[in-house]
Amino acid sequence: MGFFKMAGTAFTNLFRKPATLMYPVKPAKRFPNTRGTLTIEFEKCILCGICQKKCPSYAIEVDKTEKTWKLDRIRCISCGSCTDWCPKKCLHLDNAYTAPVTSEFKDSTRERHTGA
Ligand code: SF4
Ligand code: SF4
Repeated sequence: MGFFKMAGTAFTNLFRKPATLMYPVKPAKRFPNTRGTLTIEFEKCILCGICQKKCPSYAIEVDKTEKTWKLDRIRCISCGSCTDWCPKKCLHLDNAYTAPVTSEFKDSTRERHTGA
């Protein structure tokens, strides 16, 4: 690429809108089949642990003794395996992207199951 062509491209791009979105300030486009945020209907969950066994990225932790269901959202790749296998159909992949996070955290249902 010649110098003038490159300079012309650089100059043009100075006045163009960015090719990318300022996510999450501007929400990303969603499509009908977008598999986004994993949600759970806590009241239907029987803590069987099947979702944990079927998760390829080890994002779910079920502890029957402690009565907890935990999801590590950084590990979750929204594959849908857990939603397909859940016998109570209480897991869903909503048509929305998960909000970005700056540190590792886990969604937990401990409070819901124990009332603690
Ligand atoms: S498979 Fe469904 S019912 Fe079983 S622990 Fe997971 S979410 Fe709960
Ligand atoms: S959607 Fe896939 S990666 Fe995410 S928790 Fe379920 S099985 Fe694991």
